[in-house]
Amino acid sequence: MRIGIDPGMCEGNAVCEALAPTVFELDDRDQARVTDDVLAPDGSVPDEHRALVERAAEGCPRLAIQVTG
Ligand code: SF4
Repeated sequence: MRIGIDPGMCEGNAVCEALAPTVFELDDRDQARVTDDVLAPDGSVPDEHRALVERAAEGCPRLAIQVTG
């Protein structure tokens, strides 16, 4: 799957990090990003993380996380 995070929507509240700490973290500008631990070289995220990713996407109060594939 691929994960998109809309920088115009993300307000850095770290809800995604709390719900899925292996998948999301905040950068030094308090913007969410996908961790290097789960990001494959081609920019995708292995399907084994889907349940956590979907939990975070549904929990994001700004609906800033898009999951495709
Ligand atoms: S939960 Fe949403 S708004 Fe909050 S840091 Fe994560 S992507 Fe950004």
